[in-house]
Amino acid sequence: MKRLAILGSTGSIGQSTLSIVEQFPERFQVAALAAGRNLDEAYAQAVRWRPRVVSVGSEELAGRLAPMLSKAGVGGIDIVYGTSGTVACSTHPEVDFVVSAIVGVAGLEATHAAILAGKPVGLANKECMVAAGEILTRAARERSVPILPIDSEHNAVHQCLRVGAHAEVKTIWLTASGGPFRQLPLEKFTAITPEQALKHPTWVMGRRITIDSATMLNKGLEVIEACRLFDLTPDQVHVMVHPQSTVHSLVEFVDGSIVAQISVTDMRLPILYALAYPERPASALTFDLAALRHLEFEQPDFERFPCLRLAFEAAYKGGAHCIALNASDEVAVEAFLAGRIPFMGIPGTIDKVLASTPEAHPATIAEVLAADREARQRARELIAG
Ligand code: MG
Repeated sequence: MKRLAILGSTGSIGQSTLSIVEQFPERFQVAALAAGRNLDEAYAQAVRWRPRVVSVGSEELAGRLAPMLSKAGVGGIDIVYGTSGTVACSTHPEVDFVVSAIVGVAGLEATHAAILAGKPVGLANKECMVAAGEILTRAARERSVPILPIDSEHNAVHQCLRVGAHAEVKTIWLTASGGPFRQLPLEKFTAITPEQALKHPTWVMGRRITIDSATMLNKGLEVIEACRLFDLTPDQVHVMVHPQSTVHSLVEFVDGSIVAQISVTDMRLPILYALAYPERPASALTFDLAALRHLEFEQPDFERFPCLRLAFEAAYKGGAHCIALNASDEVAVEAFLAGRIPFMGIPGTIDKVLASTPEAHPATIAEVLAADREARQRARELIAG
């Protein structure tokens, strides 16, 4: 029995994880749930799953949750809050495996703490790997703690890498749907509205990641994530637009063999893989190969999607540049959704923040968070100006 901590339990990955637990009650149990501001859902999950500990976003929310649970006759659950609450979930002695699915750097400390406590991590939070991948992977290596990617592309790469040795890997190909503007001419990019950008052709996801898919910054973050997770240089990581989102990624070995992973477009599969690794439980997530008519692959267009170019530049520089890329994008996406900057203002903002970022390699999580705050501040000032 694997006892789970789910960080970001009320988000889409968190809910998909709980649906896997529901399907495999003989394998998985919920020991800790960390939610944010969605109190009603956190309450419903606590009642349904009876974890040892529940964390919510603030002291005020924790104060409201306690009487709700006692009124429902649910006792024996520790209620905690904030960053220390999330850390209490990820390091709880009765937790065997941590699903890290809090969006943004908010989940960074808890993910790092989980690794330091020797807990295997299923990582759905790519911002953690982008901002602090050098620190997290070093800590994991030193303690032989596995980090299992839940991001669908990296999960696919993880599966493909089992075919050969690290030294035999030539290139990995991260596939990208291309987002809603794959075929839109460059001159129309200035008039893109938030409503248009929020419509993703193949995946239903949170708001920031949906906009990041439209700018392809999401794929850029995934390039950095892949470099850290799989110990590869940026020139070993390539992006390939693949509109069907059927091949989740590919690995090319030095002998010329390319191994691809194909499955349904459903996050429950990478979640199940990460939770059960190295086993493969039988599931109903089957893919109808006969219904597949064609697979298209095309090179990404770095001119229409400058975020991709900016991400590769940050990947080469590493450290503070990766932090600034992620932080400035998050600020710029919020501003775009609020109608304060145009769509192409997103790469514009990131470009300027990166240009003013010093080359540095933060060595601690506190230094990462400080660099993150600085980059956010610069992005806000640029947008306000
Ligand atoms: Mg992905």
